[in-house]
Amino acid sequence: MTQATQDKTTQNPTTQKTATQTDNIYDVVIVGGGVCGTALLYSLSHYTNVNKIALIEKNAEVALVNSKQSSNSQTLHFGDIETNYSLEKATRVNQAAMMVKNYVLKNDVSQEIHTLYHKMVLAIGELEGDFLRDRYETFKDLFPALRIIDRKELADIEPKVVEGRDDSQEMIALFTPDGYTIDFQKLSQSFVKNATQKTDKSIDLMTDTRVKAIQLEGDLYRIETADKTILAKAVAVTSGAHSLLFAKRLGYGQDYALLSAAGSFYFAPAQLNGKVYMVQMKKLPFAAIHGDPEVHDASQTRFGPTAKVLPMLERHRYGTILEYFKTAGLSFDAFRSFFSIVSDLTILWYLIMNFIYDLPIIGKLFFIRKVRKIIPSVKLRELKYAKGYGGIRPQIVNLKSRKLEMGQAKLTGKNIIFNITPSPGASTCLKNAEDDTRQLIEFLGEGYSFDQEKFSADLA
Ligand SMILES: Cc1cc2nc3c(=O)[nH]c(=O)nc-3n(C[C@H](O)[C@H](O)[C@H](O)COP(=O)(O)OP(=O)(O)OC[C@H]3O[C@@H](n4cnc5c(N)ncnc54)[C@H](O)[C@@H]3O)c2cc1C
Repeated sequence: MTQATQDKTTQNPTTQKTATQTDNIYDVVIVGGGVCGTALLYSLSHYTNVNKIALIEKNAEVALVNSKQSSNSQTLHFGDIETNYSLEKATRVNQAAMMVKNYVLKNDVSQEIHTLYHKMVLAIGELEGDFLRDRYETFKDLFPALRIIDRKELADIEPKVVEGRDDSQEMIALFTPDGYTIDFQKLSQSFVKNATQKTDKSIDLMTDTRVKAIQLEGDLYRIETADKTILAKAVAVTSGAHSLLFAKRLGYGQDYALLSAAGSFYFAPAQLNGKVYMVQMKKLPFAAIHGDPEVHDASQTRFGPTAKVLPMLERHRYGTILEYFKTAGLSFDAFRSFFSIVSDLTILWYLIMNFIYDLPIIGKLFFIRKVRKIIPSVKLRELKYAKGYGGIRPQIVNLKSRKLEMGQAKLTGKNIIFNITPSPGASTCLKNAEDDTRQLIEFLGEGYSFDQEKFSADLA
């Protein structure tokens, strides 16, 4: 036990008793082992002098929720083909995604975590064509590999995108060869392996361990699981949607609720050689349906994700329905905010259609119309609902402005951070880890340090 810790426990008799009982005081405890929690573990173990760290994960392995390979679209988002990103957002996301790219280039030479495909965003018709040409002018300096390709080149690169399409329709695409497809589950496993096997830090990986409560006692956090209680000087809650539940229990994030958007997918055999995105509809908070080859199996093309609103914190886990309502809070403000969001007819119609896409039989009949915008010749029998695939994007609802907030949210309290991470949270995991590492070192205070220079030299 360090001197600093002894001093703290002496000041607080309850904490002292617990500490003696458990003899378990960590510098940092990370709650939740998805790609964000494991990236933070990697950063703390490699680039700081923090010695005693625990990562607590309720499942038997890390990354079995949204970071699981089947839960997300496996795209390393840079902002080049995401037409819903502004230049400012693309600059930020690009910087963050570069870190993941650099990590996999160094640590994944055998390509078990990533596959490199080309990617593009497709414009059909003059209006979308003009939009992409304008966008190219604005974004070309940030993404030098990006270029405009015409119908002829498109036919060479992605023949099925052109096959069977009306010749009179204008067709262009913004294309780049840099389409990193990532198995974020394997990436998480790699972060853990590098943290536990390639450093001499004292790291406790506690899987199959659900955190039931986090409480501040004196200067330490008391973290309760079913069979043990541990203490931490600083805590990072990286539990996806559950982070907001923990935050609210500690009095933080009271102005937020969640709109959980489940994303489903359909499979079709080998339609595309790379990723094909569509121009994003204005107003809509979620990425338009796109086609992607599977990260480890190019013979399968995945189309999606849909966006079905479900009152759950984790997909396919019905026990999280009650937790969802606890997180959203059945307050007047929450109802007013949800009503305000769906009162926009474009959003309401979009949500209804996305609900239909998940229905047996008729869902496919409606969904194929979306897929045919990408592959006009796709047959109904080729499309198959990807059962059990797709996670939940916990979109933040601001109860004050009654609006959906795009992107992730970070709440910072006394020696504690909470991360709520909808898309592109997996792409930004290392940047997020960098920010959290800096913050945690500040929490821990004297004697603790972060080698920012080495972190940047290795990853930025
Ligand atoms: C359909 C869909 C498509 C997406 N596509 C992309 C994409 O292409 N690119 C991209 O960058 N992002 C994408 N995302 C977003 C991305 O998947 C998430 O941002 C990312 O996985 C979040 O990682 P995380 O570690 O924060 O959360 P998670 O991976 O959900 O991990 C949270 C962990 O916390 C654990 N946990 C929760 N409660 C407790 C508790 N009480 N005790 C202990 N452990 C707990 C969970 O078991 C889980 O392992 C997509 C998401 C969806 C749903």
